[in-house]
Amino acid sequence: MGHKSWLGFILLLFTTLATSGIARGDGETAPARDPKQPIDEAYTAKIRKYTTAPYFSSPLVDYLPASKTVPTPEAVLGDVAGAPGILPYAEDVYKYMRLLEKATPRVKVVSIGTTEEGREMIAVAVSSEANLKNLEQNRQRLAKLADPRTIHLEDAEADKLVAESVPVYYITGTIHSPETGAPTALMELAYRLAVDESPYVREIRDGVITLITPVVEVDGRDRMVDLYKWHLAHPKDFYPPLIYWGKYVAHDNNRDAMGMALKLTQNVLNTYLGWNAQVLHDLHESVPYLYDNTVGDGPYNAWVDPILVDEWQMIGARNVADMTKFGMPGVFTHGDFDTWSPGYLMFLAAMHNGISRLYETFGNGGADTRERTLQADEYARTWYRPNPPFPKVLWSQRNNNNYEETGLLTSLHYFNENKRLFLKNFYLKGKRSIQKPSAEGPAAYVLPANDPRASVQADLLRVMLKQHVEISRSTTAFQVALPVKKEKKSAKPADPEEKPKPAAPTSRDFPSGSYVIRMDQPYSRVADALLDYQYWSPEDPQTTPYDDTAWTLGELFGVEVTRVTDSKVLSVPMERVTELHSFGGVKGEGVLFAIDNHAEPALASLRYRLKDTTIEAAEEPFQSGDRKFSRGTFLIRGVSRSDLDSATKTLGLEAVALATAPSIKTHPVRAPRIAYVHTWISTQSEGWWRLAFDNLQIPYDYMSTQALAKIPDLNAKYDVILFPPVTGEASAISIVRGTPNSWGNPLPWLNTPETPNLVGKNDSTPDMRPGLGWDGLAKLQTFVRNGGVLLTATDTSQFAVALGLVNGVAASTSEKMKIVGSIVGTRLVDAASPIAYGYDEKVSAYCDNGPIFSLSSIIGARRRHLGPELKTRPTGRGTKDDPDFVVGRPASEIPEEPERELWEAPQPTDDQRFNNPRVIPPADRARVILRYADSKDLLIAGLVGSGNEIAQHPAVLDVPSGSGHVVLFSINPVYRGETENTYALVLNTLLNFDSLNVGRKDADQK
Ligand SMILES: [Zn+2]
Repeated sequence: MGHKSWLGFILLLFTTLATSGIARGDGETAPARDPKQPIDEAYTAKIRKYTTAPYFSSPLVDYLPASKTVPTPEAVLGDVAGAPGILPYAEDVYKYMRLLEKATPRVKVVSIGTTEEGREMIAVAVSSEANLKNLEQNRQRLAKLADPRTIHLEDAEADKLVAESVPVYYITGTIHSPETGAPTALMELAYRLAVDESPYVREIRDGVITLITPVVEVDGRDRMVDLYKWHLAHPKDFYPPLIYWGKYVAHDNNRDAMGMALKLTQNVLNTYLGWNAQVLHDLHESVPYLYDNTVGDGPYNAWVDPILVDEWQMIGARNVADMTKFGMPGVFTHGDFDTWSPGYLMFLAAMHNGISRLYETFGNGGADTRERTLQADEYARTWYRPNPPFPKVLWSQRNNNNYEETGLLTSLHYFNENKRLFLKNFYLKGKRSIQKPSAEGPAAYVLPANDPRASVQADLLRVMLKQHVEISRSTTAFQVALPVKKEKKSAKPADPEEKPKPAAPTSRDFPSGSYVIRMDQPYSRVADALLDYQYWSPEDPQTTPYDDTAWTLGELFGVEVTRVTDSKVLSVPMERVTELHSFGGVKGEGVLFAIDNHAEPALASLRYRLKDTTIEAAEEPFQSGDRKFSRGTFLIRGVSRSDLDSATKTLGLEAVALATAPSIKTHPVRAPRIAYVHTWISTQSEGWWRLAFDNLQIPYDYMSTQALAKIPDLNAKYDVILFPPVTGEASAISIVRGTPNSWGNPLPWLNTPETPNLVGKNDSTPDMRPGLGWDGLAKLQTFVRNGGVLLTATDTSQFAVALGLVNGVAASTSEKMKIVGSIVGTRLVDAASPIAYGYDEKVSAYCDNGPIFSLSSIIGARRRHLGPELKTRPTGRGTKDDPDFVVGRPASEIPEEPERELWEAPQPTDDQRFNNPRVIPPADRARVILRYADSKDLLIAGLVGSGNEIAQHPAVLDVPSGSGHVVLFSINPVYRGETENTYALVLNTLLNFDSLNVGRKDADQK
């Protein structure tokens, strides 16, 4: 077919589609345009031109209604939405939305906050004039449905409100910056909703308030548009990958709905709840051609209301059906996404009595029209995808916009048709949240007033406040009954020698001032989901969890959280806490001040804040008066009482004045000069570390591996080099070599006229490809040998091990072990190490298949077995425990093998030691700070499969090297704003960087 006749064929098909009509159920409105309303001919022609095949469009979007007064997206874009070569900046999208607002009373734009880099976020409401005029009255009605306590849980009253209310459907676009289609699709959708007079769209406009945040990750959008512009200016070159999205994290910006650490999450939740919306529908692009992934696959999150699960199925199934009838291929709703983790942005709705929805559509990572070839699993016909995508296709951004808009319009229409049901469900989910204590429990979660880690407890409570969870504080001491755990009946007869276990306590006392998170509140669900424990069965049919399997915040923060089922707790006298007032400060009078060490991250903030003050760390626990202080306690001199009082009040730390200095060994706690290193491979995981450091106000020099390699004398400038995890596919060699640069062009990450937004407040380079380099590696080694401290975690630990920066440590990975974003138990091995200051014997930590460390005392040692290994005595004389004998020669004693634990290095035997320069002197061997718990105690929450492979192995190691140290983490101690319990392991390393050998038993044995 020639070019012209092909076009004619397409036009013919479009006409056929538009006029043939689709059989509808009784009383349903046909999805067809109003023939009386003129169309914008030029715009419509371009829509058709940019759509690569007629079946990639629908009768809802294959035309644009004309308006004499309202500008089309062309006014800002210079072309139609989804046109090739055009990606608007957020600013341009906002400009258009504000043009709409000016031109029609059916659009209202509000500012909803700013990003970390100060860019504006907006929400655009589109509805009928009447609805927008009565927004406030409507909001008040919806607020009553959102909090059924206001109407005393009276269903009749709710029904009245349901009948009168206009629901709110909230759509969020482009949280993931390389997924570029949503902003133009949403510009055009806003226009259609405001202008189209077809009965189908009019019903939506009159019946629903559509709320749109066209760009969620505004900082990342502007960078992505820059890169695309660079690509258009250098069409033959490779263009740089989007290494930074927001200031801190990339793809993980859609994993922040638990920790609420990012502004975009906070702004979207505040908007969602502020408008009392019923739906949060988040737009993504990675799967052909439209995957409504809310139905997904199991296991489903255990805390969502089953009413929501039904809603997912209803809307999802209808969405697929409608688009299938339009003849659009590749639309489906089941798939490999499980709905377990509540970390996704859409889950803000699922956890706050709304409906969470998410589309994966097909995007080209820019606005080029491209030939796309799919993988077999993407185009295969399956039971849930009877109409799969094509194996090969020419795909355009316009196609993407057609799918997004068609999906949204059919969803909005179905939602409107059934809005009374969905509004009633909205009320019911709120009501059931309030009835939680009596319906399924628990009654409350209690955080005791006397938690020794008050500043961390406050941080956890702040997360709850950001989640709009109500917190109360008891005004009296109180007692609750504890649930009685049923003892498992043992099959074996009781062992008479076994000591009877002490009876489990049946009640628990809490002091006055304890925090109570009541479960009889509208948002009890989110508190319950975040504070409860998770269990993912190793036998679950879902073998590839989509994300973390655990998030128990009490464990990850290391603060005590008690799940209380005794409903008496609800009648304890208490008052609402709307903000956490400053606490801490200085108590008493004396010559010096002590701050007990409970591994609170705020201690590190204090060290940097009081930079001219002398702070010493107590190397042993001590007592002063009747008060006990733990190892690592800060002893502070040379600061005025008022300065210390104000600093500790800000940080939530309690300082105690001591009459006399304790007579114990101490060493200085210093504020090290930190080089903070990232790669140009990925900045995703280190971004969470950077966010934590910035929140703690700990200064550092941020630099790439390339920049580090160029510093002539690292020791002259820095005390500690921090190399947080890289993740992705970062092997040790790729950290050194970077991206191949024997071919291709440089990949600049610089501000240029085409890319004014790239660098922001992060880093830049003329070419992203080179890595650390072998020279850089040598410099790292020299830095450590000369007394510097290098801190690594997960894959950067593997890098340090693989490239020989440490001796006597092996790091392996396991194919079988499955610890997928789980919380595991670890045990303190060396409490005298400054790295362990403030920790108790048991430490819960986040682990995602961390490297399995094993230690040896001989470099390059390998155990060789030539015969069978004898675990028991061989066949011979006597009983099982007797020694064997040899006839005709004196008996010989078998030398006793030294006992050693799995986490320790085996002691070399006399024979191994003989003339062996490879034996590592005791003082140079790795010091185990923390180890993984025994197999049976490893699982705290989530999935632990074949955990025996890592059980008892080291979790945190301090390895001397020359006069410096490499501190290796197998766990990831700083993660997604959720792991405050393990922050201090990193911070202790920093503050004690020049005293890490303190308490080391074999420090002098060379
Ligand atoms: Zn995405």
